[in-house]
Amino acid sequence: MRFAPSPTGMFHVGGARSALQNWIYAKQQGGVFVLRVEDTDAARNKPEWTEGILSALDWIGISRGSYEGPYFQSQNAGEHRAAAARLYDSGRAYYCDCTREDVQARTGSQYQGYDGYHRDRGLGPGPGHALRFRTPDEGATVVVDLIRGEPTFENKLIEDFVIARGDGSPVFLLANVVDDMTMGITHVIRAEEHLPNTPKQQLLWDALGVKPPVWAHVPVVVNEKRQKLSKRRDKVALEAYRDEGYLADAMRNYLMLLGWAPSGDREIVPWSVIEDEFRLDEVNPSPAFFDEKKLRAFNGEYIRALPVAEFVDACQPWLTGTGTIAPPPWQPEEFDADAFAAVAPLAQTRIAVLSEIVSNVDFLFLASPLIDEAAWTKTMKDGSGELLDDAVAAFEALASWDAESLKSTLEAVGAERGLKLGKTQAPVRVSVTGRTVGLPLFESLEVLGRERTLTRMRAARLRLV
Ligand code: GLU
Repeated sequence: MRFAPSPTGMFHVGGARSALQNWIYAKQQGGVFVLRVEDTDAARNKPEWTEGILSALDWIGISRGSYEGPYFQSQNAGEHRAAAARLYDSGRAYYCDCTREDVQARTGSQYQGYDGYHRDRGLGPGPGHALRFRTPDEGATVVVDLIRGEPTFENKLIEDFVIARGDGSPVFLLANVVDDMTMGITHVIRAEEHLPNTPKQQLLWDALGVKPPVWAHVPVVVNEKRQKLSKRRDKVALEAYRDEGYLADAMRNYLMLLGWAPSGDREIVPWSVIEDEFRLDEVNPSPAFFDEKKLRAFNGEYIRALPVAEFVDACQPWLTGTGTIAPPPWQPEEFDADAFAAVAPLAQTRIAVLSEIVSNVDFLFLASPLIDEAAWTKTMKDGSGELLDDAVAAFEALASWDAESLKSTLEAVGAERGLKLGKTQAPVRVSVTGRTVGLPLFESLEVLGRERTLTRMRAARLRLV
């Protein structure tokens, strides 16, 4: 089994899904998982994309050192050329110097494939001469696919496709086959997008005299409009989900549900269950909907299931701004680990992605809260100033600064004005945290402390004069 990404951009979630499926299948079959970086498209490949793929794989549990490779396709260039030469020498391929315009002029159509013009003209190698595979005129190519049955392609409908360019460099179709052959790959599990390539590739296996692998084309991943996930339109990069605070366990569980489900009515299951129960041949061939909302909800559940200490650890990159994560709005010396630990259990039940921790706790660490002006305007009505005056006076008089006392005190202040607790809380919350929503207010005030709470309420009161 192998995973063979092309490092041409961020790591696509669909790629991550195929990698996991290969990984599990290899484990189940007692096979070897090989990572091969298909880096032959020099114009589009960048080393940093390769590094990104390796670290994203590592993140979802395909850790460096636990697989064979990474190998690089470019290192096998000699084999690719040798295979092209073998196909030419055996008459299975021929040279052609037709341009696209030449073919169009002859066929009268820009949609028609190559017309086989050079099949028997005996053109030799030379600059600008592409090498084309001579596809059989008759018969059909049957692809044995664990997910799709036996898709059958009539050979006469497959054009004589290019296997090496005019400069002699082999194209993806050939390089990919030769690498799989050299590495002894028995199963190719890859995206459905490659299915049209498969009959051509299988013809190459046959022509090179090696038994083709078993194929499994896993379903295309689509957005809510049933469009193929695209990096221009959709959030597709695994790294982006990681940096936003998705947990690796939630992510890999969700990715495995794209086209497959564990037994029973379960979706959220331990990884060991997925490793046991996953069956490649049970994967549904229809397009798989990547539902970001569902993934978010999943992640929230995974976050809530963490022991608090692990949750606190998991939040650290967002609290400190490590790696590729943007620094929080407070200075490192303003951060107070004890205060964070005190509110962490409250935050844990409320956030769906870890990056949301920042806006939930920033009021604790900033000298003054970041006021959301729209929230302020919406909340501060006539009478809010007087209410704050009363609340400040009542809070000043409190003997014990604890959530319980704060709550009953503010409740009494509101009751005097015929206000429910929710309405009474709102101006206090905006004064102290800058927002209308957040952690439970009274616990927050307890942790923030008397002095800072009162200073903020007084400052808000002054703004209302
Ligand atoms: N490099 C190809 C891709 O990223 C791999 C195709 C394959 O898995 O055979 O799409």
